[in-house]
Formats: sequence, structure tokens, C-alpha cells
Amino acid sequence: MTCQQCADAQDNPRGDWFAVGCDSCTARALMVVTCPEDDIDRALQKLFGRSRERGAELVRQWRARDRAHIAAAAAAKGRR
Ligand SMILES: [Zn+2]
Repeated sequence: MTCQQCADAQDNPRGDWFAVGCDSCTARALMVVTCPEDDIDRALQKLFGRSRERGAELVRQWRARDRAHIAAAAAAKGRR
């Protein structure tokens, strides 16, 4: 987490909060517009350049956060 938008997105990774220049926001946006099975190497290269491995890790972290959010929402729905 590196900015207020990322903090706000913890409970809703697909929320449309975005800060220009934040690597974590960039990774979250990439997570939203791609599927886990997509080849995102070129996008990572363009967006993160030499830091592409860090970008890939941030995308993985946001995907995990997104899955957890979806599971929690489904569980909450099942409890009603
Ligand atoms: Zn951010």
C-alpha cells in the first residue's frame, strides 16, 4: 500500500480510486483490466520498465486481495 487510494481500495480492490504515479495503483488498474491467465508481460514492461518484477508482484497481491474480497462478499451474502 503506497497511497490513500490504495488504502481505500483494500476493502474494494475494484473501486475506481487511482493516484497517478503510484505503482500500487498502476498494478491494481492492470489487475482490473486483465484476467489472471492473460499474458501481461508487455504491459508490465511498458508500465514498470526495469521494475517489472515488482509490478508483477503488486498485481499478484491485488489479485489475491480481489479474490479475498469476492469470497468475503459471497460469504456475507450467504449469511443473510
Ligand atoms: Zn496507490
